[in-house]
Amino acid sequence: MYLEAIDEARVASGAVDVMITFDDGNASDIELALSELVSSKKTASFFIVPSLVGSKGYMTWDDVVTLRMHGMVVGSHTLSHRNLALCDPRTIASELTESRAMIQTVTGVSVDALALPGGFAPRGIGRYAKEAGYSCVLTSRPGYWDRRSLLVPRVCARPTLTPTELRAVLTGTGSAYLRYEQVKYMARSAIGPRVFSMVYDVWCRWRDRVIG
Ligand SMILES: [Zn+2]
Repeated sequence: MYLEAIDEARVASGAVDVMITFDDGNASDIELALSELVSSKKTASFFIVPSLVGSKGYMTWDDVVTLRMHGMVVGSHTLSHRNLALCDPRTIASELTESRAMIQTVTGVSVDALALPGGFAPRGIGRYAKEAGYSCVLTSRPGYWDRRSLLVPRVCARPTLTPTELRAVLTGTGSAYLRYEQVKYMARSAIGPRVFSMVYDVWCRWRDRVIG
């Protein structure tokens, strides 16, 4: 239903440029999303975590090749899905560089995009990303992309995002969903990355125990 909303927004405003992204390399991306994208003739970017590839619930390297065969873009979501805001410079560099190299080896094409785990950006992320060979960094800040910026905001599609709200987001006609996401993001920024990170990491461990 989101893909139809994208088409409707394009018809309504004529110039909607949308990037569809999936983080983490979940197996459901292959099982559910890929066929929908292919049948609606859309491409998306899939940000995978090499250390999770092949684990339970995640796609395999063969799946990554399948994505490429269908014309999808494959980007890096770091090597091990660490919170980069809490990593030292050497770890940040290796998370960015090694993941990019591994994905490039499998897909045979350049990996240009990086998505930040949890949206956490360490100071100087632009420099780290450029040094590792990336040309854009996808964040979790809700908003629209100014193409002159290396940092790309995104709007997370939560279960509360209705097709009507998505059309409003895409056509820029005023979306309560987007405003709510922006307020939440500001609140998260206000409490600081360290406190938010601790809460986020506890949640991730709980999620991995329950789902993994
Ligand atoms: Zn993630």
